[in-house]
Amino acid sequence: MNTGRIVIVGGGIVGAAIFHRLAAEYGSRVLLLERSIPAFGATGFSGGILRAFHTDPALAADCALGLTAYARLVRAHGADFAVN
Ligand SMILES: Cc1cc2nc3c(=O)[nH]c(=O)nc-3n(C[C@H](O)[C@H](O)[C@H](O)COP(=O)(O)OP(=O)(O)OC[C@H]3O[C@@H](n4cnc5c(N)ncnc54)[C@H](O)[C@@H]3O)c2cc1C
Repeated sequence: MNTGRIVIVGGGIVGAAIFHRLAAEYGSRVLLLERSIPAFGATGFSGGILRAFHTDPALAADCALGLTAYARLVRAHGADFAVN
């Protein structure tokens, strides 16, 4: 059985999203390291806008996945979320 640890460096949206996904599967084996406070980098300055459209089909597909993921988070945690 593999009992190694998974270490994620950086507590911005990317690190936090990876942590959220992996912790659900691996629990306390997953460690998130942040040099300051969560969202200390670009994430803390973001406008919080979720893009729904893109001219590049691959990025448009990513946008759709992102919106679906946020809607799932709202259902799971009751976060504040609006679609305009
Ligand atoms: C002003 C502004 C507005 C924006 N508005 C939007 C928006 O409306 N919508 C949108 O989708 N995107 C927006 N963006 C872009 C978006 O914020 C970034 O693409 C996204 O936050 C990047 O996330 P990240 O996790 O990759 O990086 P970051 O949020 O920068 O996270 C990196 C983290 O790693 C930590 N770190 C770095 N080095 C180490 C180390 N050696 N050890 C431990 N921790 C470390 C940092 O402290 C930081 O917390 C905006 C960006 C800016 C600057």
